[in-house]
Amino acid sequence: HDTAIAIGIDVGTSGVRAAAVNADGACLAFAQQHFETSEDARSPMRWLAGVRACLHDLTQQIPLATVQGVAVDGTSGTLLAVDANGAPVAGALMYNEPCPDRQILETISRHAPANSPALGTNSALARAIHLSRRPGVARILHQADWIALQLAPDHLATDENNALKTGYDLELEVWPDWIEAADMDRALLPEVHRAGDPLGLVGRTARDLGLPAHCRLHAGTTDGCAAFLATGANRIGDGVTSLGSTLVLKLASDKPLNVGRHGIYSHRIRDFWLVGGASNSGGGVIRALIGDDRLAELTGRLRPHEPTGLDYYPLIRPGERFPINDPELPPRLQPRPSDDAVYFQAILEGITRVEQLGYRRLQELGAPTLKTIRTVGGGSHNPAWTELRQQALGVTFLGSQSTEAAVGTASLALPLAARSS
Ligand code: ADP
Repeated sequence: HDTAIAIGIDVGTSGVRAAAVNADGACLAFAQQHFETSEDARSPMRWLAGVRACLHDLTQQIPLATVQGVAVDGTSGTLLAVDANGAPVAGALMYNEPCPDRQILETISRHAPANSPALGTNSALARAIHLSRRPGVARILHQADWIALQLAPDHLATDENNALKTGYDLELEVWPDWIEAADMDRALLPEVHRAGDPLGLVGRTARDLGLPAHCRLHAGTTDGCAAFLATGANRIGDGVTSLGSTLVLKLASDKPLNVGRHGIYSHRIRDFWLVGGASNSGGGVIRALIGDDRLAELTGRLRPHEPTGLDYYPLIRPGERFPINDPELPPRLQPRPSDDAVYFQAILEGITRVEQLGYRRLQELGAPTLKTIRTVGGGSHNPAWTELRQQALGVTFLGSQSTEAAVGTASLALPLAARSS
């Protein structure tokens, strides 16, 4: 299988990206298309136009005749309704649009098990139920499912990762009875497969776009799982810290962990479970208190080997869920030193302690010991912060193979024998 190539397609909120990888997971070709407006971001036809443009771009870079598989990831929780022909019934409901019908949220909270990822004000299941009430709806699909359906119209399905927040039961491997009680007609939801499972051959649209007739569609995943896979993390104890606007920790585990009060839930990917938790601390605090324009200057004045001695818990506003569950938890950002470089360092030290506490909390709750860390997001480019984190966390820091979700998704579409992991 040395010549095996797979393509991953990542449909996100900012645009579409496609990557072709070889059996070692190395990226051979990459293409991207940005959405120009937020209206484009919610238009299934724009998503598809982006996919077409990206695939066309790939054909200009490498021959696609040996592509064995293709898989799609999409924004977790973005849903759309389609009619009997698979055509969208109006636009999508985006991952961050709370269900406009409060009654649906209440009904879900009465029927869902305590730790269900389908609970909460931003429930994807609530969006699904809301969409299912539009006239002429034959199916409710996740963003990735709909793109996959365009590529392989005979193989309508979804994957466990996208299905998780819509209420799918990973242990029983069914759409559970309780979602029917919450008024979700299960007949409208697609059949669920494990991420990466081969589903069937691609159809005419995909062939017209340059994919060979022997190319198989594989069950896809969510953007978050894809970003984890892209880094190359795949062993129990491998952690990936995302230092973006929020601090997100993900850890490959030998067993699932679901703790509703901390917003912790688990995805199944191949032979491991991906356990994740998100803190309200993170780069958003840096942006609010320091500002992006001063980062370079202040970073140059950081002294990672001289701790400030300040004990901050950086938050923009009160309230935290993970690693501490306290909706009232106040930000701790006092006293404020006169030198802004010291202030910045104290904030970074604080976020580092939250990260350390986060991995420790996951372990206390039953996740495996953290063995390695890869880092993604804006903060990963700050060498002094990396230094602070290495001192505090005391595990091996590894570079990421890729930061592109499309590369992670492509790795799911390699024939099993060809996967290097
Ligand atoms: P998002 O989560 O919005 O996609 P990014 O991964 O692009 O965010 O990261 C942006 C965040 O990273 C911002 O909050 C910014 O303040 C922070 N950030 C960017 N560069 C640095 C840096 N050199 N040091 C610390 N934080 C940084």
